[in-house]
Amino acid sequence: MQLHNTLTGRKEDFVPADPARVTMYVCGPTVYSFAHIGNARPAVVFDVLARVLRRRYAKVVYVRNITDIDDKINAAAAAEGVDIEVITQRFAAAYHEDLAALAVQPPDFEPRVTQHLPDIIAMIQRLVDKGHAYEAEGHVLFNVTSYKDYGALSHRDRREMVAGARVEVAPYKKDPADFVLWKPSAPEQPGWDSPWGRGRPGWHIECSAMSAALLGETIDIHGGGHDLVFPHHENERAQSTCAHDAQYVRYWVHNGFLNVNSEKMSKSLGNVLLLRDLLDEAPGEVVRLALLSGHYRQPLDWTDDTLPRARKQLDRLYGALRDVEAIEATAEDAPEAFVAALEDDLNTAAALAELFELARALNKAGDDAERARLKGQLLAASDLIGLLQSTPAQWFSGSDADGVSAEQVETLIEARAEARRQKDFAEADRIRDELTALGVTIEDSAQGTRWRLAG
Ligand code: AMP
Ligand code: ZN
Repeated sequence: MQLHNTLTGRKEDFVPADPARVTMYVCGPTVYSFAHIGNARPAVVFDVLARVLRRRYAKVVYVRNITDIDDKINAAAAAEGVDIEVITQRFAAAYHEDLAALAVQPPDFEPRVTQHLPDIIAMIQRLVDKGHAYEAEGHVLFNVTSYKDYGALSHRDRREMVAGARVEVAPYKKDPADFVLWKPSAPEQPGWDSPWGRGRPGWHIECSAMSAALLGETIDIHGGGHDLVFPHHENERAQSTCAHDAQYVRYWVHNGFLNVNSEKMSKSLGNVLLLRDLLDEAPGEVVRLALLSGHYRQPLDWTDDTLPRARKQLDRLYGALRDVEAIEATAEDAPEAFVAALEDDLNTAAALAELFELARALNKAGDDAERARLKGQLLAASDLIGLLQSTPAQWFSGSDADGVSAEQVETLIEARAEARRQKDFAEADRIRDELTALGVTIEDSAQGTRWRLAG
């Protein structure tokens, strides 16, 4: 297996530290609002990576945290006049619901920051004791000049880092790039007791502390969206390396951003697409396939065409399965070319092309033995990538409520015309009834058959 490593900027052979226990940590959501389609991208990408790793390694421990201490959460709670738990429980539950609809399997551990305050405080204390952090006016800051490799992950020099972080030039900082490990809370703000007074952790320390607590000092893979490389992952790396004197992460893996109509999603542009709203428009598998349609490291442009295209692709795959419903699949592995694509830095676009190729082969198969074999391969491959989790009957009846694809209607109309040419009027009537059940009205004329969706 090969993975692109942000630290080296190269695709590398993936060699876990301990093949008997492969470890992966992915930064999860800050739960103060509903997830948007961009947040769904790392969840789906790293779900596929976990599935591919599990195929090869007997034990994979996957951790994806929930950030439930954050100033945006505090603001949302204050605005509603409720405790932060009300906000974080509500949006963590919504996140779980949304991801389940996308067939994202739960990680092995899903730690919350509020459950790890002792680990966080102990790690900060250790950094202070080792001279990598200092206390100033109720804050504890990490001293970046104490870590000579600072900036190596994000490939930035000092000037860029100070500008990029838009760092607050506070008088108590020894260096403008020093970042907060702990900060004081005002009486009305959520806070926890610590050696430095009542306060709360900065953002970066939580992932360093939780990954060490659950996975150990060195982890194989650390993932997240590309926006996290700097400052979040750069800072995690500094903290963990300095606290443990050990390599923190063997492979840094980052997904590219999802844009909407070539623009960055933002509240000010009013183009933020909530995952829940998209799930009202299309089944979760359609959204999942769309998210996997491009290479994970490339930007993904979400347009009006994205969901209809993915739906048609699934119609094709389920169509191939429906035609062989009576045939029992033999037990097969996912085909080699499909697995090879996924193990080549998670090339899901190439893997999907293999999946469509399998469906085509299935449509053209010459005998039932071949159909049984290809059906088995198609099911194994789609399982590995988390698609085709319904039966064709469920899928096509679901189209009833969710909108029927043009391709599906044209196929049925063509089949009906053929039945009529063969003078098989019973079959032609049956297909007409099927179209009616799908909400399609047809009109025959000398020019052919026209159709429209009823209602
Ligand atoms: P947040 O809740 O903002 O910390 O984001 C959770 C995860 O979603 C992080 O891994 C982010 O890098 C990722 N993310 C946020 N926005 C996007 C986007 N537009 N495209 C891809 N990933 C994103
Ligand atoms: Zn993190």
